[in-house]
Amino acid sequence: MLQLQKEGVTDERVLDALWRVPRERFVPQHLQHRAYENIALPIASDQTISQPYVVARMAQALRLTSDDHVLEVGTGSGYGAAILAQLAHDVVTIELRPELSGPAQARLRDLAYSNIRCVVGDGSKGWSALGPYDAIALTAATPSVSPSQWEQLSEQGGRLVAPVGDLNEQRLLIFRRSPGHLDCRSLGSVRFVPLLGVAGFNILDPARMN
Ligand code: SAH
Repeated sequence: MLQLQKEGVTDERVLDALWRVPRERFVPQHLQHRAYENIALPIASDQTISQPYVVARMAQALRLTSDDHVLEVGTGSGYGAAILAQLAHDVVTIELRPELSGPAQARLRDLAYSNIRCVVGDGSKGWSALGPYDAIALTAATPSVSPSQWEQLSEQGGRLVAPVGDLNEQRLLIFRRSPGHLDCRSLGSVRFVPLLGVAGFNILDPARMN
């Protein structure tokens, strides 16, 4: 936690959310002793649970309030959704792989987080049924922010954070939308697993090849 503060995560609400969410419940059992290291760790289906520092930077940049309705793209383990849910009114989290969404939902239910809704689908198009959102967090590398994702972001001060780039390296970008204006800032270089789907990277998913 001290390390996070040194590295520029200073928002007390975000640091508090990181204290409160038990990361060891979101990692595979054989890696539980490493849950509090500031590193990404493998989860099922060749995906990863993001590094706490990156989750914290994303949450801090979104400047969430207790009124915000949030979309997370890429549920993975459910950890990011749990952090966002501490800071916002409610979180919708979408996952392409049902085999990850199921266990994440069970975990979030066991931990009694009541303001998170898990859905299965292609989040590269966002999730219009429950939009618009005050904030959107993309937790997989994307070639760009898709038109549907923009459409689902509130025009009145909506924020969107996304790792935008190619498969090897991305820039973590934070956008803020207001009528007739879009502000963008880079939080530095990152490496996420790829976003698949219609507006994601058009690559073969090894888990689905047989
Ligand atoms: N937020 C997660 C980490 C996500 S890793 C956590 O805290 O654990 C990225 C996730 O995005 C993976 O689980 C992957 O399956 C998912 N993903 C990839 N493409 C997607 C898409 N088009 N729609 C929804 N989820 C997608």
